[in-house]
Amino acid sequence: MEPAYLETKLIRGDQHANHSAVVDPISLSTTFLRGEDGQFVTSGDIYSRASNPNRAILESKLATLEHGDQALAFSSGQAATHTVLLSLGANAHIILPDDIYYGTRVLIDSVLADFGFTYTICDFTNLEQIEKAIQSNTKLVWIESPSNPALKITDIEALAKISKKHNLLTVCDNTWASPYFTKPLELGISIVMHSTTKYLGGHSDILGGALVWSNTLDKTIADKLIAIQKLGGAVPSPFDCWLLSRSLSTFCLRMPQHALNAMALATYLESHPAIETVYYPGLITHSGHEIAKKQMKDGFGGMLSIIVKGDEANAIKVATKLQIVRNATSLGGVESLVDHRKTAEGEHSTSKPNLLRISVGIENVNDLINDFKQALDK
Ligand code: PLP
Repeated sequence: MEPAYLETKLIRGDQHANHSAVVDPISLSTTFLRGEDGQFVTSGDIYSRASNPNRAILESKLATLEHGDQALAFSSGQAATHTVLLSLGANAHIILPDDIYYGTRVLIDSVLADFGFTYTICDFTNLEQIEKAIQSNTKLVWIESPSNPALKITDIEALAKISKKHNLLTVCDNTWASPYFTKPLELGISIVMHSTTKYLGGHSDILGGALVWSNTLDKTIADKLIAIQKLGGAVPSPFDCWLLSRSLSTFCLRMPQHALNAMALATYLESHPAIETVYYPGLITHSGHEIAKKQMKDGFGGMLSIIVKGDEANAIKVATKLQIVRNATSLGGVESLVDHRKTAEGEHSTSKPNLLRISVGIENVNDLINDFKQALDK
């Protein structure tokens, strides 16, 4: 009997052939035996850069998670992004959101600009502005919703329709929302991208990336993505695939708790006199709340940002005074993190100087609220 529900599929998806262990073994071998007839003895694996049993299990779970048909796993989120951009060919023009993860923009500026890549930055809450930015060589619209770090919300379905009308590819970096809350392929997006380092890994101990699409994607594009993964070779190790696959077993338990804690913390912070603004799409005061309600299911994710009253030094002081919430970059782990984005992004930063980004973990939320209370009251 095949499992019908996601929670079960993510646990029972470990179907690596030819062993009787309940927990899948890690296939460290880089090469695989051929039989007398030249055929492969088991699964068709030839060489681990091209395919590996642990990667196959992981990719199958990633496709299931996003309601896609095919997934590719990478050694980092940036490797997945790089793969999509390379697949466009030289001299491509791309449309990017003004609040995009800064690393995506820096990758284009410092590496892909040499191959003629250009981009236009738009406010992705203004679809008219995006449509006007389309040029004759525009190939791709890149979406992030909620965005990093200002949690802007883009109407994914409406933008996918505009892009289709102009024959453009759409990629949604779904790292922040995670497939628990948003399924971009169902909203008409061509390809979903992930930094699996974040919520999918969930424990701040695996670097990884992913691309997922459905069979409606043009085959020449899908084949190009597969070729870049296998030939470019930015693939995750068998151990990282195994660890990420294991993390996915608890994904459906972790995500609702992240969202519940984030909502409670956002509500508390919104009422604190030391806070100027809270960016969290679950709050009715958030400008993107109505669209978020339409496209995010069962919660609004675990990320929020705050604008601390006063200057940059004041915001940094709050981050350093927190005792339970750790002052470190990254997100999506079970532990709460606070990050002064301007410091983390360095010279490329476009973040407000007094913005702190909070990745809300799954600790008891009263500890998180009390921690912010003592840091802000000081
Ligand atoms: N996209 C988003 C939204 C991110 O937050 C990050 C990393 O912080 C990335 C992509 C890049 O992923 P990685 O660090 O796994 O390369």
